[in-house]
Amino acid sequence: MRTVFYFCIGTTVASFACCCGYRLGKGQAPWSPRRSYCDNCGHLLASWQLIPILGWLLQGGHCHYCGNHISVFLPTTEFLIGIAAVLLCNGSSYPMQLVYLLALATLTILACCDFFYCFVYPIFILGLLPLAFSHPLSWSITEVGSAFFLLTIIFILVIKYQGLGSGDLYFLIMILIVLGFYPTIAIILLASSATLLLIPFSNTKVPFIPGLAFATIIVLIYLKQKGALA
Ligand SMILES: [Zn+2]
Repeated sequence: MRTVFYFCIGTTVASFACCCGYRLGKGQAPWSPRRSYCDNCGHLLASWQLIPILGWLLQGGHCHYCGNHISVFLPTTEFLIGIAAVLLCNGSSYPMQLVYLLALATLTILACCDFFYCFVYPIFILGLLPLAFSHPLSWSITEVGSAFFLLTIIFILVIKYQGLGSGDLYFLIMILIVLGFYPTIAIILLASSATLLLIPFSNTKVPFIPGLAFATIIVLIYLKQKGALA
């Protein structure tokens, strides 16, 4: 029963975060207009069309009114965040559950903005900061040196080759602060692999933040299942 509850909470958080990310990317306030609408025909959506995952399935992936295609990114994200919420919240104390849900919402907003508009609002990365309370932070001299070296390489990539955006750099600095050196390396490797796998299927630039967000969730789940997180 608790699993179903966490899954529903996760899918709802993802649905709301996707809406926020999508509207912010268009320069709109997340709360205005209050009701969600079809981006193509402008028709306000009925309550049943807003149910996470089910709303998309019941409409067959197309707007009920104009038939416009609705991106599969939305139900896929809702499903994955639902699963992640179950795995992170089960066995966690009350304040930590909120920390994980905030982190999932933050990662979804960032991924959504970058996926649809290829940019992120750096201020939203602060939503990951409470993750620092999920485990005791301890840095050895080797880790500090390696982290500095890693950030220098990323900084050069951003400035000189523009292979990465400044949003990617801010994101990785935050991950370094809240999760430490080795989880950050795992996240970079996983995100790079996931992004490289997508390149052959895309004829436009593939944004990196969705890969980083996906990798961060996988690493968080791994650390949680290992007992390394509260
Ligand atoms: Zn429509």
